[in-house]
Amino acid sequence: MLRLGGQVIPINNVQYSSVTKGESLPDTVRTLESYADLIVIRHPDVGSAATAAHYASKPIINAGDGVGEHPTQALLDLYTIVEALGSVEGLKVAMVGDLKFGRTVHSLTKLLVNYPVEFIFVSPENLRMPADELDVVNASGHAYEQREDVHDIIGDVDVLYVTRVQKERFTDLAEYDQVRDRYVVDPALMDRAKQRMIVMHPLPRINEISYAVDSDPRAAYFRQMRNGMYIRMALLAAVLGKA
Ligand code: ASP
Repeated sequence: MLRLGGQVIPINNVQYSSVTKGESLPDTVRTLESYADLIVIRHPDVGSAATAAHYASKPIINAGDGVGEHPTQALLDLYTIVEALGSVEGLKVAMVGDLKFGRTVHSLTKLLVNYPVEFIFVSPENLRMPADELDVVNASGHAYEQREDVHDIIGDVDVLYVTRVQKERFTDLAEYDQVRDRYVVDPALMDRAKQRMIVMHPLPRINEISYAVDSDPRAAYFRQMRNGMYIRMALLAAVLGKA
């Protein structure tokens, strides 16, 4: 927004807002929309952006609702794929890691079902894609596979979309410790990948991709970040009728 020449009213220190006095989300939204032209909301609860949109008369952009969705990330991911590979048509897209709590894979899947792609979901058994996300894939008629070992599929994929195990979503940290370093993309794994493919990650990366991969031309995660800025600028401009 700043690069577009607009201003922002950040409410990220929620302890200084009436939210801590018990103000409801609908009331917070109705208060903030009287100061602003649109609201970007990141909230810990699934469905919070939809609730906000229900009560707001100004546009609401979902910037992440708990383990639910992260739609602007999906837009920048799609843009990054098309920029790198020319098109999404016919691509094999593997999503790897924490598919249960990773909201970016939920949103990217919902976006990609609009295109002829093949999905491979790679995760430990307890972090599989939730049933309602798989229902979306099934309803769209797309083929998908669920796997546990990334080595089995690395040679076939056009997009390797790696995610962080979402530590903050685990109630049992021992369970987190068991899965945290399950998938690590390193140069040895990349040797088995196609020459024309990309490795993506919504960041922050913890141990899922070794730093030695960063100089590989197939590493697309920092381009993703930069594209995120442009895509979000475009989205803000479009929503505000300035595009
Ligand atoms: N930055 C992404 C998100 O907000 C991914 C992550 O946190 O792992 O969901």
